[in-house]
Amino acid sequence: MESFVQAYEITIRLGLFVGIFALMAAWEVLAPRRALSVSKTVRWVNNLGLVAFNTLLLRVLFPAAAVGMAAFSTEQGWGLLNHYAVSAWLAIPVAVIAMDFVIWLQHVMVHAIPALWRLHRVHHADLDYDLTSGARFHPIEIILSMLIKFATIMVLGPPVVAVILFEVILTGMAMFKHGNVRLPPGLDRVLRWLFVTPDMHRVHHSVEDDEANSNFGFNLSCWDRLFGTYRDQPRDGHRGMTIGIRGYRQPHDVSWLPGLLALPFRGRITGYAINRRQWTDG
Ligand SMILES: [Zn+2]
Repeated sequence: MESFVQAYEITIRLGLFVGIFALMAAWEVLAPRRALSVSKTVRWVNNLGLVAFNTLLLRVLFPAAAVGMAAFSTEQGWGLLNHYAVSAWLAIPVAVIAMDFVIWLQHVMVHAIPALWRLHRVHHADLDYDLTSGARFHPIEIILSMLIKFATIMVLGPPVVAVILFEVILTGMAMFKHGNVRLPPGLDRVLRWLFVTPDMHRVHHSVEDDEANSNFGFNLSCWDRLFGTYRDQPRDGHRGMTIGIRGYRQPHDVSWLPGLLALPFRGRITGYAINRRQWTDG
């Protein structure tokens, strides 16, 4: 099983990406949750253009990527799971869950720290919410994420197959949870016991500070519940809520590729979490 997954890694990942993309795209066309404010063509050309650029950039900078780092760490015996020779049936789920926690923590930090929020704004400035929002990140944030992933893998020492599994789940979930779709309420509730759903993550894309600083989870919903950042629904409902960031609402700046690349270097930052503390003079 392990060698099969490793041998066909690229094929499996590409196949699942295309399959899930097609499924979500069809679902969004047939039963959209909200009307789009910018045309789908403009969104797709620019958001997917950024994705293509980031994919190339990562290929050039880190050709072996996270999976390569996992293989190297295993070879060197680096990381907790390698050091204690934890068996695969335990190491795989532990590694996937631990990597999900680290990425949750990273997400909280990019909201809390002003300079990092500048980068992460590119993801949040999207005026709409659809499956292409899920991969819309500034290239510097993409590089930073990869370096954090490398460090996590060196400390954790996950089996290679766990990293492949995590990357596949992450890509699939990114498209699913950013879907402009609606699950039946009962199914949404049951899925949320364990996983992040489109309605749960949409709250995080609200213009309201308190809502945007909620529901940081990528795959598992437990981290937000455990650490007190869970928000059930947006105040104004999923159709009434406003998606994006206040003050950054010109399509020229937040929908077109040149604007997206320049966005981290523009404007003052006010609404980051760490500055929303209360104090009194005197
Ligand atoms: Zn965010």
